[in-house]
Amino acid sequence: MDRIYIKRLEFFAKHGVFQEENVLGQKFLISAVLHTDIREAGKTDDLTKSIHYGDVSHMMKEYLESHTFALLERAVETLAEKMLLEIPGLQEVELEMEKPWAPIGLHLETVSVAVRRKWHRAYIALGSNMGQREGYMQMAVDEIGAIRGCEVEKVSSFVRTAPYGGVEQEDFLNGCMQIRTLFTPRELLEALQAIEQKAGRERKIHWGPRTLDLDIIFYDREVIEEEDLQIPHVEMAKRDFVLLPLREIAPWLRHPITGKSVGEMAEELTQHYVM
Ligand code: ATP
Ligand code: CA
Ligand code: CA
Repeated sequence: MDRIYIKRLEFFAKHGVFQEENVLGQKFLISAVLHTDIREAGKTDDLTKSIHYGDVSHMMKEYLESHTFALLERAVETLAEKMLLEIPGLQEVELEMEKPWAPIGLHLETVSVAVRRKWHRAYIALGSNMGQREGYMQMAVDEIGAIRGCEVEKVSSFVRTAPYGGVEQEDFLNGCMQIRTLFTPRELLEALQAIEQKAGRERKIHWGPRTLDLDIIFYDREVIEEEDLQIPHVEMAKRDFVLLPLREIAPWLRHPITGKSVGEMAEELTQHYVM
């Protein structure tokens, strides 16, 4: 991706863990790397197709001067979030905040904290087979869309499927959605579990009836193998109730390990059916 650099913009603010710092204030410097596609601006000479570095510089200075944080970590974290949410076309941002006069009783050139934050793309499978199934599914879509730092990009149709896993229960309604998120995979999992709770989900029987089940199928092209979180979802290639709705919204999407596309996985699975 193309980049725009803003280097060592000066500002005066009151960040720090000491009370004196919060009263007297001191000089800071902020540097930013804005990752954005500037091809169109390059071809047309039209500023509206790029990001205005002047506006961004003012935004950073105003934000950092009008808030007071104990930690540089907090300052860059919240500023990065604000920039990704408010600047159209900004896909990723790197921020470094320097504090040249950090009061540590030693001479140093500068101390700084740097972060790199970006929009991620994730696919979430939704399922319900208790009560107002459609209502729970729609509630999940709305709740996810209402989270600061999550945007719903695509939602499949909701399909009826017979239950899975050998437990006697009602039919399922299943669907998939594509979102853009600033959350880490674990933060996303926690947010989804909170929504399941809100829908009154009780974990009684594994693969048993539930008001709402939200699983992370893909998160960028990341592979996560931890005790309580595996991405891509381990069972996805075996499940038509995941693959068929997912194929509606992203047939071209490839599994980062097997290299098979969602379309190919769905095809293979339906070929195995004995009619
Ligand atoms: P399955 O995972 O086979 O679809 P389930 O959805 O019925 O089964 P749950 O009881 O909803 O299982 O979840 C069990 C645990 O799975 C969760 O507590 C969570 O920590 C873990 N988990 C691991 N990987 C994922 C993932 N990709 N998405 C959601 N939960 C996951
Ligand atoms: Ca599940
Ligand atoms: Ca689950």
